[in-house]
Amino acid sequence: MGDRPRIERTVGGMRSILHHGRHNVRVAKRNGPLFTPDAIEVARAALEEIGQVGRHLGIQAHNNECATLRFEAYEPGYSGWEWHAVLACAPGSDHLTVNELALMPGNTALKAPEWVPYDQRLRKGDLQPEALLPPNPDDPHLKDKDGRLVLSKKGAKAARQRWEQGKFGPRSAYAQHAANPCSSCGYFLPLGKPIGKEFGICANEYAADGHVVHERNGCGAHTLTPIAEKHTTLEPFDDEQY
Ligand code: SF4
Repeated sequence: MGDRPRIERTVGGMRSILHHGRHNVRVAKRNGPLFTPDAIEVARAALEEIGQVGRHLGIQAHNNECATLRFEAYEPGYSGWEWHAVLACAPGSDHLTVNELALMPGNTALKAPEWVPYDQRLRKGDLQPEALLPPNPDDPHLKDKDGRLVLSKKGAKAARQRWEQGKFGPRSAYAQHAANPCSSCGYFLPLGKPIGKEFGICANEYAADGHVVHERNGCGAHTLTPIAEKHTTLEPFDDEQY
């Protein structure tokens, strides 16, 4: 490698650290040694020891003594990523030191989604019959009553809000087309505390059977829906007789 900086790789990673001092490179001083074509070459040489380096993309100065030089990265599976070389130069010195090399995602890089802790990954509908989901000790929807967890006021309020905005709430598509509300339907079984009488269970197997419905929801299976008039049966017409 001649007078190129030597890089020491870290175990199992693309991030690599160069030893300070021993492999310093002398460069000409023009508007600060970190911002010269020579600095770009120093960074490129260091990066080329660990990866495939493309076009120089720019320099980000952290202060007068430290800057990150960015390059395109041609690494399989890392489309849109960049090689970054952090170079430092002590005040009054013209010796550049390569402090750190790293493969970093660029603006167009495909990145993994934000990390979600395992205990927060369950989504509605994920629970399977054999799965266990113990209550969260800090769940504000529950409260202790005589050593037993019961629905808290907050839990009841949250349930009411969900059901009110849900498929069988007062603004549902069913409600908009219904001639009569659930409250006057014979299949409406009102709930009491802590949810409130404005909600009930629908007991009509052809409608929202078993679901909580709002009293101002409704549907075409309401018990006040008029029975259709019977049509008079007409005699068959035989045109061969004419
Ligand atoms: S049958 Fe229709 S109107 Fe009656 S309770 Fe059920 S959803 Fe409401």
